[in-house]
Amino acid sequence: MISDFTYLKPGSMKEALLMLAEHQEECKVICGGQSLLVIMRQGLTSPEYVIDIKGIKETDYLTYDAKDGLKIGATCTHRTLEKSAVLKEKYPVLVEMEEKLASIQVRNWGTVGGNLAHGDPAGDPAPVLIALGASVKVASAEAERTIALDEFYPDLFETEMHKDELIVEIQVPSRPPKSGTKYQKFNLLDSDMGMVASAVTITLNGDGTCKDARVVLGSAAPTVIRAKNAEKVLIGAKLDDAVFEKAGEAASIECSPVSDIHASEEYRRHLIKVLTKRMAKAAWEQAKISG
Ligand SMILES: Cc1cc2nc3c(=O)[nH]c(=O)nc-3n(C[C@H](O)[C@H](O)[C@H](O)COP(=O)(O)OP(=O)(O)OC[C@H]3O[C@@H](n4cnc5c(N)ncnc54)[C@H](O)[C@@H]3O)c2cc1C
Repeated sequence: MISDFTYLKPGSMKEALLMLAEHQEECKVICGGQSLLVIMRQGLTSPEYVIDIKGIKETDYLTYDAKDGLKIGATCTHRTLEKSAVLKEKYPVLVEMEEKLASIQVRNWGTVGGNLAHGDPAGDPAPVLIALGASVKVASAEAERTIALDEFYPDLFETEMHKDELIVEIQVPSRPPKSGTKYQKFNLLDSDMGMVASAVTITLNGDGTCKDARVVLGSAAPTVIRAKNAEKVLIGAKLDDAVFEKAGEAASIECSPVSDIHASEEYRRHLIKVLTKRMAKAAWEQAKISG
């Protein structure tokens, strides 16, 4: 059962941040409620105040330009990303990821900002956004700062945000030329959270060797992690199946998955190896034909 709380409905992000500053010790922000209501029902959190930012229009946007890249406002829903023609053209991996995130109902109401703030290592957006080099802009009533998303998660369900801060924007740089990003989660039903997941970005030099790579794993540790040993295998290499195999192997060794009712640690490591190898190859193939 959900305990009683005082419901606050700010009309702007500035008002929300002032309310947060006043009640930070005993309040929770709610946006779509697709994660928060679950943990409130489980009694894992019982805030005295709930600040509802869902209706704030000023942060419900998705914009792109070639110089500044992609900007996603904190109250933008998953469904907006899924249906965006700009994303389909410029960041197709984000559309592919959203199409397999939960159900249409959850995507219609849940937000990317809420998903990232929740800090679930099984969440889909974080691995893909980290592979794309994304950052989050967070704000308090006093100041704003930007944090690289690969440095945002210190531990399980924790973020680097202070209690008086909110995510206000997600920033994704423009994709460099000759670059591809691919993502796959392994699950039994299409819309489930992944048992494990791998996102890989490959950027090529003019001679076809690998200029840069990001390998990011979900459900493979207490937080979403970059598999830096796998990245080292790829960067500088002339890519082929043997290199992808070695990168998958490195990723499966450097992660630290758990055994639980869904899968054993050993099985998860096997899946990480296979998915990373496949996603590295798929990202390479996309990079070869990208402008
Ligand atoms: C049935 C079901 C299936 C799901 N399947 C998947 C799945 O396959 N993959 C996946 O990735 N997710 C999945 N989810 C989770 C869902 O995608 C996320 O919960 C949702 O996107 C979170 O957004 P929200 O707006 O609902 O956040 P809320 O639930 O409102 O908030 C989540 C947390 O973030 C905080 N918060 C919200 N907005 C901000 C902000 N702007 N700044 C700082 N903190 C904030 C809240 O205080 C809370 O702690 C599933 C959820 C359900 C219910």
